[in-house]
Amino acid sequence: MRIGRQVWDELVAHLKRELPGEGVGALLGRGQAVRYHPLQNIAMDQTHFAVSPTEWVSLLHELETTQERLVAIVHSHPSAPPVPSQEDREQFLYPESNLLIVSLQQPDKPVAALYRKIGNRLERQEFFTI
Ligand SMILES: [Zn+2]
Repeated sequence: MRIGRQVWDELVAHLKRELPGEGVGALLGRGQAVRYHPLQNIAMDQTHFAVSPTEWVSLLHELETTQERLVAIVHSHPSAPPVPSQEDREQFLYPESNLLIVSLQQPDKPVAALYRKIGNRLERQEFFTI
């Protein structure tokens, strides 16, 4: 998957604003990700993320209207590498979407990894900014 530099910059800026907690958002588009939609992390501690069901449903409705697709669900790992946690593996239930994890161990050098659910496994996918 490729995303434009501007979308990437927006995404990273939002995830950094959420530090020290995990940030969460969605990459949307038709085929390629063309925009970033920040979501509110309602988890009570800093090592998880949770999206309010209301916000999630309203995003899905918006996608029906705009005819866009959920290209990837994005969240940050403030102090861990971009490797899915056990919880990430269990929670990510969207075989038609991708999981993008952005590690902010060094906030000025974000490291991203993209995964897709294939059967019961998350397989790493190619990801780069253009
Ligand atoms: Zn995670």
